[in-house]
Amino acid sequence: MTSIIENNLTTNRRVTCFVCGHRTLDKRCDWDICPVCCWEDDVLVIDEQDKRSPANKGMMVSEAQANFVLFGASTEQRKDRCRSPRSDESLDPNWRLLAEAVQTIQSRK
Ligand SMILES: [Zn+2]
Repeated sequence: MTSIIENNLTTNRRVTCFVCGHRTLDKRCDWDICPVCCWEDDVLVIDEQDKRSPANKGMMVSEAQANFVLFGASTEQRKDRCRSPRSDESLDPNWRLLAEAVQTIQSRK
């Protein structure tokens, strides 16, 4: 059984990146850059709704999600700066691709 302290360290301590769904961020909206997809956690994008992010050059969350699936990064240009998620950056089971991202991915296949 996992203790509460252990559970906090492995899951609850970090918040989920909207773009890649991994728990990579120490806090929400602290302008941190996700190491897995290189999305900057924008204070103006505070939920999973599909908004343009000024910190990410006006990109929509769904565009970044589609890029992550297609290229492994929120933009193709940032691909080389991203890394694989660590064991303490698990995929949030509640995270989902936005419908617009799914459409974009399907249209490019
Ligand atoms: Zn991410």
